[in-house]
Amino acid sequence: MLFSELATYFSRLEKETSRNSLVEILAELFEHALPEEIASCTYLLQGRLAPFFQPIEIGMGVNYVADAIALAYQTDRAEVLRRFDRLGDMGEVAKEMGEESGRAAPPEASPGIVEVFETLKRIAGMAGPGSIEQKVGAFTKLLSSLDPLSANYLCRIPLGRLRLGVGDPTILDAFSFAQVGDKSLRKRLERAYNETSDLGLIGDTLWQHGIEGVDCLSIRVGNPIRPALAERLPSAEDILKKLGRCAVEMKYDGFRCQVHKDGEDVRIFSRNLEDMTGMFPEIAQATVRQIAADTAIFEGEALAYNPASDEFLPFQQTTRRRRKHKIDEAAQELPLRLFAFDLLYMNGENVTSVPYEERHDRLARLIQRDETIDVSATRIVEDPEALMEVFNLAIQEGLEGILAKRLDSPYQAGSRNFNWVKLKRAQSGELQDTVDCVIIGYIYGRGKRSSFGVGALLVAVYDPDRDLFTSITKIGTGLTDEEWREVRERCEPYVSEDKPARVESILKPSVWVEPAVVIEVLADEITRSPIHTAGMDGEKQGYALRFPRLVSFRSDDRRPEDCTTVREIVEMYGQQGFRPAK
Ligand code: ATP
Repeated sequence: MLFSELATYFSRLEKETSRNSLVEILAELFEHALPEEIASCTYLLQGRLAPFFQPIEIGMGVNYVADAIALAYQTDRAEVLRRFDRLGDMGEVAKEMGEESGRAAPPEASPGIVEVFETLKRIAGMAGPGSIEQKVGAFTKLLSSLDPLSANYLCRIPLGRLRLGVGDPTILDAFSFAQVGDKSLRKRLERAYNETSDLGLIGDTLWQHGIEGVDCLSIRVGNPIRPALAERLPSAEDILKKLGRCAVEMKYDGFRCQVHKDGEDVRIFSRNLEDMTGMFPEIAQATVRQIAADTAIFEGEALAYNPASDEFLPFQQTTRRRRKHKIDEAAQELPLRLFAFDLLYMNGENVTSVPYEERHDRLARLIQRDETIDVSATRIVEDPEALMEVFNLAIQEGLEGILAKRLDSPYQAGSRNFNWVKLKRAQSGELQDTVDCVIIGYIYGRGKRSSFGVGALLVAVYDPDRDLFTSITKIGTGLTDEEWREVRERCEPYVSEDKPARVESILKPSVWVEPAVVIEVLADEITRSPIHTAGMDGEKQGYALRFPRLVSFRSDDRRPEDCTTVREIVEMYGQQGFRPAK
């Protein structure tokens, strides 16, 4: 397939807002591609050259892309930047100049998808002295071989501005439609996706080896695994009723780390599957020292620890080091402790189907404990009183609550189910758990706050079945000036003129924001609402948060798709009013 054909599909996708039509267009694209083009197509659709957890970047910012456009269309950088000021998008600039230069139709010898993909990868790999000139040169050559529409999309890729509004679940559905004409392969594709996190690999395997080939894909050291998550129940009694005799662990309020060890090579992934190895040097070193296996994948919660006061510090303090450049200094000042709580892989063996109790035993034997990596304390309980003893102990230690775990449960990647159940501390008159929301717009206010450009935030939760972000509340009060400023700074790159493709909202904010900035919100209550779209279904009203307030910014460890789901909101609505028994 020619890159120009792919660009035509991109332009159709960009104009489309209906989920079903997006799936149809994508399925048509995959049907027309050759098997060996599926992986490149999939990564390019996401504006990437590799799965998102591999930090491969093209390494060309606005100025270098402008240089390439200037060279390709024989003008100068100043002219390109003038047009950029007017059009606000480098892709549009390239398209306009391409049209003016008369390249309306795809030129002869227009490159194929794989050729463009491989050239971009080669550009990404250029490093060292003179590499900038080489990058600009190679990009210019590529640009010169493309028609205006293709040039538009090409220029947006290095700048991270492709934004076709296609989420991962939509691509999985399209794979299924392209292969069998319906969604019936989705579950099997999703399992492989949860265990490998690599859509390109899944697409390539599906086209080259069929769905049976996909069934053979499983967890591997180096590919982050989508995390298992906990359900909620309102009381110790409910938990015992549901799980029976179970294990109870402290719920540490830190940063979830998935550690992959391959000999001396260690990689650490966050809850949203980003490679964070650089942020946690002491945990990487301790893994080599403390883990008695050649290969291993395990999970734990990392917390900043203040040795002077012998205290654990909350999540916000733990993530502060991400913004500090001097991570080594931070590691000295506030060393981290990792409480390992689960084992997924060990010496070549996938242990996710081994029952929890045995996995935890194996984990405890695998770790040679010292002050950096420890094992989460676990106690087996049979009655609500014993569970509440552990809960009260957790609260006394300043922790969030507990997690109860089913003794015979496997580790189910990417699932939120009753294998794990969380019970958190709640003040009276508050929801028992916070809600992770993504900002989808600002509403300009009057008065002091409007000087920061924001008066209220419109926020949404995620509906994975429809791959949509649906509005759930406005947050207008309770933010400090500092927080408003931070909101503004974080949202700035995502401001969008039109409603973003995957957003569903009846309220129209003054400014739309593409779903990117995740915040943790505490509210008093969930109510039914005719104006919010979360959980709205035909005649049935949606759900809204009452008296919402910002607790923390969570983009460091949550992707927008990791937000609380509509299904969870409906469950939390049903559980309101119950409190953990004293
Ligand atoms: P929350 O905001 O409540 O942490 P969450 O959506 O991140 O919620 P949940 O599935 O609700 O995730 O709760 C599990 C989370 O609790 C894990 O992601 C992990 O980061 C954290 N955690 C802390 N201690 C433990 C533990 N002992 N076992 C498992 N998870 C733990």
